[in-house]
Amino acid sequence: MTVFDDLVGQDQATAVLSRAAAAAGEVIGGGRGAGMTHAWLFTGPPGSGREEAARAFAAALLCPDAGCGHCDQCHQVLIGSHPDLESVRPEGLSYSVKQTRELILRAAGAPTQGRWRVILFEDADRATESAANALLKAIEEPPPRTVWLLCAPAPDDLMITIRSRCRQVTLTTPATEAVAHVLATRDSVPPDLARFAARAAQGHITRARALALDEGARTRREAVLGIPRALTGVGECVAAAERLVKTAEEEAAAATAALNDNETSELRRLYGEGSTGKGLNRGLVRGGAGALKELEDRQKSRATRIKRDSLDSALLELVSYYRDVLAMQFGAAVELANDDLRFDLDQLAKASTPEETLRRIDAIMQCRERLAANVNPQIAVEAMMLALRP
Ligand SMILES: [Zn+2]
Repeated sequence: MTVFDDLVGQDQATAVLSRAAAAAGEVIGGGRGAGMTHAWLFTGPPGSGREEAARAFAAALLCPDAGCGHCDQCHQVLIGSHPDLESVRPEGLSYSVKQTRELILRAAGAPTQGRWRVILFEDADRATESAANALLKAIEEPPPRTVWLLCAPAPDDLMITIRSRCRQVTLTTPATEAVAHVLATRDSVPPDLARFAARAAQGHITRARALALDEGARTRREAVLGIPRALTGVGECVAAAERLVKTAEEEAAAATAALNDNETSELRRLYGEGSTGKGLNRGLVRGGAGALKELEDRQKSRATRIKRDSLDSALLELVSYYRDVLAMQFGAAVELANDDLRFDLDQLAKASTPEETLRRIDAIMQCRERLAANVNPQIAVEAMMLALRP
């Protein structure tokens, strides 16, 4: 067993990383370690497991046995408590230059356990321009034992000056069978359900796991994929838009609430107030009120991001629906993502032309772009629904 076993369908990346981990071990032993470098960029489509791959590599660097998967070092990395691994994600919609500078300072410290100091920078594409410039400087002049692991959807998402200093690890969308196999063997999901979830999630493992294990996720998927059928008139389009935005909000609220509660009580404990104490700021030692306010601001902007992400994944689900329709219209022999809705797909395929289907997919992509540009969700989604209407 090694730490790379959990990377589903990523044989090529695994081979590169295992070799690099061995080279890193040579460096520790005083050798040259050709193939080891200080900056890595992990890219791949959503759900391909960029962060998981980076984390496994971090374990392989910090483990004396190149990532055995069962020693203390490996275990600490995988549960996120290793003192030499700093794992960061943007607090709100992006990394601020302040957050990045603080991180760079911490990155410069010597490793406590004598191997490497590893910084795992998730969603590196979300660094603001000034944050990216600060990051570039850090990567250009790395302390001898610091390793940066950056994650982003595609190399183009980063400034060329950063990208060109990184060794790239490209992850691919894992095959349906590979994902289904993992769900069945590791999560004990019945084979039929595992295959359904893997297909519907189109290689996105986290999503597949949610569909397999959480009935709420399956119900929300059904609601989203029921939309094309329901768009019979203008009123229905407006109602469908409202429903979609609300569903995304609910999903985001559920995801956010748990995170917020933990952080707030942790902060209060830190500043010496019981988490159930009355009066938010009373009794906090000096600085506590400011820290609490800062935390609340961060939580607010994180909530915005989660809300945007869940609406976006609902839109991608709709894209998969129309892509299935298109495949049927062309008689393409491909696996349908939404095979369970074959009857609906077939009806729409027969009642419309491929040109219409393409136009609908365009309308959804345009809606995603408008949402990314901060257009009011209700307005953007309503316009899209009207364009989807037969
Ligand atoms: Zn180990």
